[in-house]
Amino acid sequence: MNGDDDPAEPRLHPEPRLPPEVSMHPETRAIRAGRTANDGSLSAPLWSTSVWTSPSIVAARRSATGVRAERFYTRYGNPTVRAFEEAVATLEGAESSLAFASGMGAVASVLYALCSPGDHVVAQRQIYGGTLQLLQMMEARFGIEVTWVDVTEPGAFAAAVRPGKTVVVWAETPANPRVAVADLHELGSIRGPFTVVDGTLAPPVIQRPLEHGVSLVLHSATKGIAGHNDATLGVVSGDADLVDELWRYAVLHGASASPHDALNALRGIRTLAVRTGRQCETALTLARHLATHRSVDRVHHPGLDEHPQHDIAKRQMDAYGSLFSFEVRGGADEAAAVCERVQVAQLATSLGGPETLLTVPAMTTHVGLSPDDRLLAGVTANMVRVSVGLEHADDLRADLDRALAGP
Ligand SMILES: *Cc1c(COP(=O)(O)O)cnc(C)c1O
Repeated sequence: MNGDDDPAEPRLHPEPRLPPEVSMHPETRAIRAGRTANDGSLSAPLWSTSVWTSPSIVAARRSATGVRAERFYTRYGNPTVRAFEEAVATLEGAESSLAFASGMGAVASVLYALCSPGDHVVAQRQIYGGTLQLLQMMEARFGIEVTWVDVTEPGAFAAAVRPGKTVVVWAETPANPRVAVADLHELGSIRGPFTVVDGTLAPPVIQRPLEHGVSLVLHSATKGIAGHNDATLGVVSGDADLVDELWRYAVLHGASASPHDALNALRGIRTLAVRTGRQCETALTLARHLATHRSVDRVHHPGLDEHPQHDIAKRQMDAYGSLFSFEVRGGADEAAAVCERVQVAQLATSLGGPETLLTVPAMTTHVGLSPDDRLLAGVTANMVRVSVGLEHADDLRADLDRALAGP
């Protein structure tokens, strides 16, 4: 037995602190990233196994006690999932990433890993319905205190932090479904608590929160990153030590990513820059069109001059994202009718894929909230959320016009 086999020595994953591709443009990173274990194969091999044989009991013990063992048991780590994690880390400019079975798997693992009873959390009001409900459950059942802040108030996050007591500051930008924008520089300047940004609405080719100094960035990779509505996946990125710490909890929580979904997401990443670029362009075209439409009361899109945080968005995003919302004149029934009348776009509750999807957040993504919480989260009954896909902008514009014109 040599020193390398010392069972007391946990084997840390052999990874450079930052992958070399991080100096390249996002488009190049998306192509180059996550190939270290490909063995010459251009596409990542699919490791469709839950378990590996061990060469010796010492090696098995080392895997069982180490951090993120690669070929031991898929809940601990899987090379296909690892390739996806490496690709995301490269895109984010992160030392390390960790994948999960869903976006909520990532959200729950991060919150459970970092929070204990008696802790204080600062959380943005305008966030994904599932995250909001989870935090409310943690408040009620686990003795965690949450201060809810309005993302549209400058300085609100920092002002709500209680030194020595606040463990997590939770933000989402842009935020579902009113596309409110949090100031990443403000969040990155907060010292003490871990600052976590859910960046699902802005994939890392257009926004990289870690560059602004936040601790962790999280995505529902189910959305834009995988990008084809064929994978359910979450991913968290940050410094290797912190991500390893999250792993120690995550391996027990068990929301580990499927290698099949990781492979689909890795394929999605190869086209992420072109897909996102086109989707953002079309979204802005449609938002501008609807902003002057007589059947629309208001359009929420961070790229419009009238958006309250347009200047912040312009500073911290390379494009404004593929998701926007609008309020239909006439109320909730008319909003529902628009979603049911479209023929090119489709009525479905997700985002970031090739198909343009419409939904009424008050009836779907935010239906689990109390009416008061819904309004505080900026969700009105007549709001339609649009996730812009890859159809031609003219066809989508004509489709929305037809749907807004009536039956
Ligand atoms: C969809 C979504 C989630 C949850 O992700 P799942 O993959 O559905 O679990 C979290 N945050 C945001 C902003 C989302 O849009």
